[in-house]
Amino acid sequence: MTAKKIPITCPTLSHKPDIQRIFKEILNSGMITNGKYVEKFENRIRKYLRVKHAIAVNSCTSGLMLILKALNLEGEIIMPSFTFHATGHAAVWNNLKPVFVDCRPDTYNIDPEKVEKAITPLTSAILAVYIFGNPPEITSLEKIAAKHHLKLVFDAAHGFGSLYQGKPPGGFGNAESFSLSPTKLITSAEGGIVTTNDDKLAQKVRFGRTYGDGGDYNPQFSGLSARMSELHAALGLMNLKSLEQNVSRRIKLVNLYKKLLIGIPGISFQTISDGNRSSYKDLSIYIDTETFGISRDRLYDALLAKNIIAKKYFSPPLHRQIAFKKYTGNKEDYINTNLLSENSISLPLYSHLQEKTVRLISKTIDHIRQRCLK
Ligand SMILES: *Cc1c(COP(=O)(O)O)cnc(C)c1O
Repeated sequence: MTAKKIPITCPTLSHKPDIQRIFKEILNSGMITNGKYVEKFENRIRKYLRVKHAIAVNSCTSGLMLILKALNLEGEIIMPSFTFHATGHAAVWNNLKPVFVDCRPDTYNIDPEKVEKAITPLTSAILAVYIFGNPPEITSLEKIAAKHHLKLVFDAAHGFGSLYQGKPPGGFGNAESFSLSPTKLITSAEGGIVTTNDDKLAQKVRFGRTYGDGGDYNPQFSGLSARMSELHAALGLMNLKSLEQNVSRRIKLVNLYKKLLIGIPGISFQTISDGNRSSYKDLSIYIDTETFGISRDRLYDALLAKNIIAKKYFSPPLHRQIAFKKYTGNKEDYINTNLLSENSISLPLYSHLQEKTVRLISKTIDHIRQRCLK
């Protein structure tokens, strides 16, 4: 057992000495929310993601809520069941019915063929997710959305650091929403970013983050109070500088995990399609109980007993959560989602995780298996 707990994730903060000076400057200025640091942060993100608009908000969830609101959607919205529940909450808060669709067993991302089958006359949009940082099949989804006159939105909570066919996310579909919460690749403590190339939509989201009020105290619609503070923006600016470094580091650590685990029977990995880059917000492995010898749940417990904190992402999936039960369709429609949620496990991964810890975790997994097989 390791003496210290190995967490599933941990924010990588570049401890810049000037952050204290910047915080002091912000506090002394009297302008502590939605000021020049927010603007600077938005501009940096816009350039990094090569998108026309970046709007800082207080979370990815409120970003998604504002996008769906600004698009004036009604009826049904198609989304994966294998995702974090915030994807679903954003729809329900907008009075939309989430229609959960199965994922692919290899990429863990929403299956475009099943998306097309789920379209009804009530469908107004598709909400796809970069699962664990792996880009979904954006070109296919764009084609389906265009063919059926649907809006297309991305939950890019895990998207900072991802590349789809060499391109950063941000400008795909009608809009995308990114998270800056502490478990993601870069953080502003809490926060989110909405991106879009659509001027009108950008304006509505900007109004939406301030109650829907364009400044004349006569709001055009009911928005949220979802601005980003200057302190959060300063933190985000500081951490944005290490984004590329964080991704390269994670890719290196994942390659090491793969090298060490690939020889163990019954373990497989999420497929990242050719030409794409995953941000590796998480490294999820799939445990085939029969070949591996023990179940995912037993492996999880045994790792915990060794002070290694893994996570059962996403278990239960949305179609089996209390909040979404009434939207659940036919249970047979979620074969791959059920398999993943019952058999996959995310291993500790963060940008400053050490190679020796990856070796220790991999060796522990092999030991647990061998001990249980005896
Ligand atoms: C973290 C996460 C969110 C929520 O992000 P917040 O910034 O905490 O609102 C939404 N979707 C997915 C897929 C996430 O992992």
